[in-house]
Amino acid sequence: MDLGIKGRWALVCGASRGLGYACAQALGNEGVNLVIVARTPSTLSIAAQAITDSAAALGHAITVLTVAADITTEAGRQAVWGQRTDFDIMVTNAGGPPAGNFREWERTHWLAALDANMLTPIELIKVTVDGMAARGFGRIINITSSAVKSPIDILGLSNGARAGLTGFVAGLARTDFVAQGVTINNVLPGIFDTDRLASNFATQAAKRGISSEQVRSERLAEHPAKRLGQPKEFGALVAYICSQQAGYINGQNLLIDGGSYPGTF
Ligand code: NAP
Repeated sequence: MDLGIKGRWALVCGASRGLGYACAQALGNEGVNLVIVARTPSTLSIAAQAITDSAAALGHAITVLTVAADITTEAGRQAVWGQRTDFDIMVTNAGGPPAGNFREWERTHWLAALDANMLTPIELIKVTVDGMAARGFGRIINITSSAVKSPIDILGLSNGARAGLTGFVAGLARTDFVAQGVTINNVLPGIFDTDRLASNFATQAAKRGISSEQVRSERLAEHPAKRLGQPKEFGALVAYICSQQAGYINGQNLLIDGGSYPGTF
């Protein structure tokens, strides 16, 4: 299916590895030009080349610009705006907050989590959404977490900060932006095979005195799909939500977790 977004410009944050990378690659494979952001210049430029090559193999000569910056800082966001602000598509994403015990989290930990996983997406939306509406097309997707629906105790910083973003987006998406062609949605990953997941498994393993492989086996044994999600599956969903065809999907929290969430809805 042609998603009808060839030639558009997308900003994808946290895009050198994992889910953000998969989103950037899926968009690039549709002929979308990209600005990709991550903090580490070396892995970011390798990602840019791989995305360019992947699109070229499908016949798309796309432009991929890199911004090596921390998107959770004002300086990092200014570096992005130095490239452009008139994006048609934006995927907000940054590393999740660390796992841990809530008794050990001080105000500074909470402020860092709120900055990264709530206020950064809001700042990014603030700068881009009016332009999208004025041009009559926009797709904003926030990568959040299945923990928004089904909280995980050791990820309390994430549960709290992402719930705040989810509430804000629920209100914003129901204003008149959608009548101007702009949709705003959150995509909620379950367990996906990325570096972040490997580090979560390692934290749990250390806490319990077992191996990461054991933690992984236990998680998969209780998972209906009996496997981890693949980042490419996540990227494909995000590319579809960014498509021309998806203009009536708005204000949703789309769970992609292989059926792990136990509720009927
Ligand atoms: P990942 O494999 O660790 O990749 C994170 C990407 O974001 C990397 O490219 C990283 O590059 C970049 N990044 C991290 N912090 C950044 C910052 N402050 N500014 C700019 N770039 C930054 O993580 P992932 O598994 O793809 O997870 C993506 C998001 O989904 C996270 O918020 C995570 O909590 C959430 N999530 C993931 C899963 C899962 O199973 N994987 C499940 C639920 C939720 P640099 O380090 O070079 O900056």
